[in-house]
Amino acid sequence: MKTKLAFALAAGAVLVAQSPAPTPAQTPATSRVGELERLGEGGRDLMILGVDAPGFDKLKTTQRKYAYFLYRAAIAGNDIAYFQNHRSAYEIKELLEQIYLHHAGVDAATMEGLEEYLKLVWAHHGQYGHTSHLKFVPRLLTFKQLEKAAKQAAKNGAEFGLKRESLERHLARLRPQIFDAKVESIQVNQVIGVDVVATSSNGLYEPGLTSKEIQAASAEAQGKLNVRFQLKKDKKGRKVAEAEEFKIGGAYSDQLELVTYWLEKALGYVDNEQVEVVKDGVKKIRFEPVPHQRKALVDLITYFQSGDEKIFKDHSVAWLKTNSAVDYLNGFYEVYKDPRAVIGSYEANVSFRSDSEKIEKLSQSALYFEGKMPWQESWRRAKVEPPIASVVNVIVETGDSGPMSPAAYNLPNYSDIRKEFGSKNVVLLNIEGAQSAKVKEQTIQAFYLPEDQDLITKFGDLGRQWTVYMHEVIGHGSGQPDAKLNGQDPSKLIGGTYSALEECRADCVALYQFFDPKIVEIGGVSVADQLTAAKAMYLGYLGGQLRANGLIQGDTVREAHFRGRQLVLNYLTQPSTDFGVAVVNKDGHFFVQVTDVAKARTGVSEVLTKLQTFKSNGDKEGADKFFADFGTKVNKDWQADSKGRMDALNLPRERAFVFPQLVPVIDLKNDRDMLKDVLLETKETFAEQMLRFSRWGKSREIAPK
Ligand SMILES: [Zn+2]
Repeated sequence: MKTKLAFALAAGAVLVAQSPAPTPAQTPATSRVGELERLGEGGRDLMILGVDAPGFDKLKTTQRKYAYFLYRAAIAGNDIAYFQNHRSAYEIKELLEQIYLHHAGVDAATMEGLEEYLKLVWAHHGQYGHTSHLKFVPRLLTFKQLEKAAKQAAKNGAEFGLKRESLERHLARLRPQIFDAKVESIQVNQVIGVDVVATSSNGLYEPGLTSKEIQAASAEAQGKLNVRFQLKKDKKGRKVAEAEEFKIGGAYSDQLELVTYWLEKALGYVDNEQVEVVKDGVKKIRFEPVPHQRKALVDLITYFQSGDEKIFKDHSVAWLKTNSAVDYLNGFYEVYKDPRAVIGSYEANVSFRSDSEKIEKLSQSALYFEGKMPWQESWRRAKVEPPIASVVNVIVETGDSGPMSPAAYNLPNYSDIRKEFGSKNVVLLNIEGAQSAKVKEQTIQAFYLPEDQDLITKFGDLGRQWTVYMHEVIGHGSGQPDAKLNGQDPSKLIGGTYSALEECRADCVALYQFFDPKIVEIGGVSVADQLTAAKAMYLGYLGGQLRANGLIQGDTVREAHFRGRQLVLNYLTQPSTDFGVAVVNKDGHFFVQVTDVAKARTGVSEVLTKLQTFKSNGDKEGADKFFADFGTKVNKDWQADSKGRMDALNLPRERAFVFPQLVPVIDLKNDRDMLKDVLLETKETFAEQMLRFSRWGKSREIAPK
């Protein structure tokens, strides 16, 4: 499960400056951190932010090398996301990249249009929005321009990888995929009542397949995380769906082979630990690879070789038990791109632990907080396994998780593993905190009352960070079902409203518990600042949601996190009750005002108790009604006002990242271990990063160009 950056967006971290960003050529090549570029009309389609990963140089050399090989494995898998997103996405990227690299003689207007479209294709891994799942087409590029540019690039030596196809034929085939928004317009269609397989155009189902053929496939194939379906004919000429596994020798074979090549290299740098061995009656200390860390990698390699999902589950358990300084994701995890919500999208990352002390203390205090939840005793858990929680800086994210990144994740998704072994909560510190300083200042000025602006400047980031920490670490895992449910799963009983209820519940745990003295004890905030920071937390949270109304299209809030926040905002500002919170209109604009944060907490406590009551009792009717009353409707006035203000400031809809670059230091004289060390730099532009991913993603050289 992913925590979307929507929260940071709603909390105002990413408004865009009105002056244009420096073009890459003007940016000094020393460090590229913060806002780098914006794309689309008025810069509203995408903001590109450079991030650093401070602390990499503090790792041990072996850990830096371990990170490097995992980094290469992550890059080696990146192209899989294109193939999964649409059958033409990879070809489109190749075509555009080749023109981009061989563009001498192509006119500037064509290049401007091509470059913008290519950058969007890189960011989204194809021609569909990463979160909207809707097709986008070039804004400033025509087919004629593309055709002319492709021919010119061919003269300049561009290689389009065409086998039996002429360039004209190739362009004609891709034309509707690139330029016609109506052709295969929806990538993931989950509308109730339609054939979701037939009407979704992702690369997981070959065109021509419908839900009928999938339902006729074996139960095993239907439930598998790592397959795609191809259209075949049986002996009688009837259409059948044939499952093709993601593995070496199956789908994405080339990429997975290279991924395992680098994972095998990483195996040599697993952390060592001291073990005591007794030999001939004498105790001796030996250093051996940490068993879980090693097993996790071995299982992952075996899984990519065999396609056996059981081995991926073994990997997940070992990965969960690994608590190493450098960690990773690599494989098929989230199912958001499959309309049936079964097939996993490839994603990978490499990260290292940062500043995790406070979040670990929070995790150690999970039982303490459980005892202080505002709901009745019998719904508090008597035993709480401290959740595995860490704060990391990511070095790279690829596939479904990069360059567009979540703010946090909670994995694995397998419910049986979660039940028995728990899950890992990981907050991506450098991503979560990435913002443009100037933009932050403008946001605060535009969206907060003058008397609150200093407060938000000082404590806004802290409030947002602790909302995320507490949401993940003590929120989701808290509470238990009523004994009368006899082990029935509340999520099954509550159905559709459950995910919104659960996200809202985790948010409310954070808003409620931040006042506790334990937060001071574990170093979250000083006792003198606690109430002030709490007020900033409420202002940021509620003000962010007020503004989020302007991000929503139509009159219904659908996304689970947004529904939860809308419910809290509406509940606390009900005209009939005084919770010390109001939405006020000043000079024609709406603002959240918090006059009494202690009263606001009382309101949150009421919401939290209601949510837990619905959850513990599996009360579908109660939950549905509560959300229908408070957490479903868009407020039209807030929506119009917020949208107008965001448009005036050119708020981007999405953001993508330029990650730091790992640079191998090579010692040619050492043929046993050529990799002497690894440096981390932040010098690349977005285009440089993405072109390098394309090159390095196919290379077995330890230090490719
Ligand atoms: Zn959550």
